[in-house]
Amino acid sequence: MKSEKEKIKCLRCKSLKLWEDVDERTGEGFVMCLDCGCNFTLKWKQDENGYYILKDTSKGISPENVLIEKTDIKYPYGICITRISKGQYEFGVLQESNDSDFLRQYINDIMIYDDKTEIKVNRYINGKIKSEYFLRNDWKK
Ligand SMILES: [Zn+2]
Repeated sequence: MKSEKEKIKCLRCKSLKLWEDVDERTGEGFVMCLDCGCNFTLKWKQDENGYYILKDTSKGISPENVLIEKTDIKYPYGICITRISKGQYEFGVLQESNDSDFLRQYINDIMIYDDKTEIKVNRYINGKIKSEYFLRNDWKK
């Protein structure tokens, strides 16, 4: 039987391949679509002075007594996927269309892999995932 959690789809491309890093204890975390990069962050909501907003001000700070704030990035530029040997992958979201500096930095930071490491950038355009491939070597300067 599938749990509710497993049925979550990407809001944008409807992929079921979501990566979740949510702290079950606090409810804070990060969820990202591994196909298009659509993502959201869950954080304890703070006021303009940086104080947590409590549901019941007569009680202290606890996961049950704070509001959770969800910040969506529904339309990122894309997602950068690095294929490492043995079927392992690394993922990095390109939030903005002018994130080429981020991409260059990301690729440069992949130090432990060889120069043939393949890097793919997925973008969700007109209802389809479009992939562009790079070799790390092409980006090293
Ligand atoms: Zn998606």
